[in-house]
Amino acid sequence: MTNHEIKIAFEEYDNLHELNSSDQHLCLESVKALKNSHSPYSKFRVGVAMLLQSGKIIYASNQENVAYPSGLCAERVALFYWGANHPDDPIVTMAITAQTDEFELIKPVTSCGSCLQVLAEYEKKQNQQINIILYCQQGPIWKIKGIQNQLPFLFFEDRLITQ
Ligand SMILES: [Zn+2]
Repeated sequence: MTNHEIKIAFEEYDNLHELNSSDQHLCLESVKALKNSHSPYSKFRVGVAMLLQSGKIIYASNQENVAYPSGLCAERVALFYWGANHPDDPIVTMAITAQTDEFELIKPVTSCGSCLQVLAEYEKKQNQQINIILYCQQGPIWKIKGIQNQLPFLFFEDRLITQ
């Protein structure tokens, strides 16, 4: 038997002003994306602003449905839009924020496992690390570089790729 240990790394910032100007801007843009959240059931709004290498920003938000499983997280709304429309313009950074009137958010909201798996797929496809900024508007901000620092046991089987 062998014990293994995996370490992940991320940066924590106390407030928006500690980030570089590009990241600050993207965080503020993620707040703008909240307005189109369709979340009448959870009342939990999630906004995404995703910066592409060309400088274009993709906006997305969570889209719920009365048939609950038919809804989709903001991250996958952004990622699938990117995959369908801008696959040749690499994703540089995705800023994610959340807002609710039901309780106070004092920690960054992290992505669900399904969104991380989709993120992993596109990071591999574009062969370039994706930065994630988890922007908590009333607390710390976390910056995570690359999917390996969020989902070290991601599912990927190279033999499934047909050349
Ligand atoms: Zn998700």
